[in-house]
Amino acid sequence: MANIVVIGAGLGGLPTAYELRHLLPAQHTVTLISEQPKFTFIPGLVRVALDMAPLDHFQLELDPLAKQHGLEFVNSRVTVFDPHMKRITVENGQTVDYDYAVIATGPGFAFDQVPGLGPHGGYTHSICSASHALEAREAWLQFLENPGHLVVGAAPGAGCFGPAYEFILMADWILRRKGLRDKATLTLVTPEPYVGHLGVSGVTNAQELTEALLRKHDVEMIANTAITAIAPDHITLDDGRILPQTYAMILPAFRGVQFILNTPGLGNEKGFIPILPTQQHPHFPNIYALGVSVNLAQPDKPRVPIGMPKSGQMTEAMGMAVAHNIAVELGAMPAPLTVPTLEAICFAEFGKTGILYVAAPVLPDPDTQQRRYAYAVQGSWVVWSKTAFEQYFMTKMRRGAAVPWFERLGLKTLFGVDLVRPMLTPQSTATSV
Ligand SMILES: Cc1cc2nc3c(=O)[nH]c(=O)nc-3n(C[C@H](O)[C@H](O)[C@H](O)COP(=O)(O)OP(=O)(O)OC[C@H]3O[C@@H](n4cnc5c(N)ncnc54)[C@H](O)[C@@H]3O)c2cc1C
Repeated sequence: MANIVVIGAGLGGLPTAYELRHLLPAQHTVTLISEQPKFTFIPGLVRVALDMAPLDHFQLELDPLAKQHGLEFVNSRVTVFDPHMKRITVENGQTVDYDYAVIATGPGFAFDQVPGLGPHGGYTHSICSASHALEAREAWLQFLENPGHLVVGAAPGAGCFGPAYEFILMADWILRRKGLRDKATLTLVTPEPYVGHLGVSGVTNAQELTEALLRKHDVEMIANTAITAIAPDHITLDDGRILPQTYAMILPAFRGVQFILNTPGLGNEKGFIPILPTQQHPHFPNIYALGVSVNLAQPDKPRVPIGMPKSGQMTEAMGMAVAHNIAVELGAMPAPLTVPTLEAICFAEFGKTGILYVAAPVLPDPDTQQRRYAYAVQGSWVVWSKTAFEQYFMTKMRRGAAVPWFERLGLKTLFGVDLVRPMLTPQSTATSV
């Protein structure tokens, strides 16, 4: 009898919709709204942009998946969200009323924060969406015909850094294989306080391993730096340095998507949604949010601002908690409510080798500033583990599975990581308002 509407069918929204469908009896409807007709596995876009894999390798048509797995599907962009009327309006004018809304809309891109940034009228490429990755690939193929200065990195305020490291080290690998490496200079520019920080300080070995790898591959590293302006042939940094560029891939800072920014009281000033430990909105109890759309405050205060990384696995954990908690609210599951642990593992692929970054949990204890553990390890096994995980994830999405028991067991056994835990004390304050 309840309609649960999931907005966004990305890494967070699609598995959450599947999990809701598994947990709730058939009398409840699960509606998935997506502006895109296809699911995209975003971590695969680094390889798409570097012409190492076709885009369709990382995409699935949503309409047949929704039919097959018992979801109502609306293929249109949400433009108006009314949390008081509990009504959603999409671009084609259709309205959808909800009993529970789950917001999983991922990032909006703050290209406007740096003059010349981004593929829409600027002079840098991005790999944050399927269309960006395709544009980046066209330009990459031209770069290979006439290599020059490759600059890769992130804009001030960015919270997603892993793909920049993957891009520059895989670009190096491709250039070497093609015998073109001596025709290109490679520079990494990042607002992170140090190379290998990735938005999470104090990860044992992360800086040493990442720096050593970049040094070995002759990549110039510029950390703790803000890009202030971008021109067709150069990039200006806040210390006045000018870097020549022939091809630049710069990850932007993220914000919430437009309808969140337009809805008073839904998000903060950046459009990220405040959440309680259960992923519930503190002021609208039947709204839940997960993934990049939520507000997670960065505990560090480095010289150049950075955001908080929200990895795929953290996103899935948030989605599992959301589905469980809505099922508890609807009486389909027994209490207690659950909360995501935000214990994160991230496989970064660098050509022949890779680094696994683990932070359990990503946010340190606010009182002690300690984590259970946080470390980085390097090996070629990281590369094949990442490929195997990609294939596994795409198979799960085809089959309508979210996070099966054997995946949870594997994460626990191999990496000591839990996705969710029961909430044993009542929630009183927002984790992230
Ligand atoms: C290039 C890149 C590489 C990455 N690599 C890794 C990695 O190796 N490992 C890792 O753990 N994490 C990685 N991440 C992070 C990971 O991709 C994110 O954690 C994950 O995608 C977040 O899921 P999400 O559902 O919040 O957002 P998304 O997966 O971006 O999905 C959001 C969906 O919502 C849709 N949407 C947006 N607005 C609306 C609207 N108004 N109406 C309807 N639909 C809407 C979007 O079209 C999109 O399909 C990477 C990120 C990037 C950018």
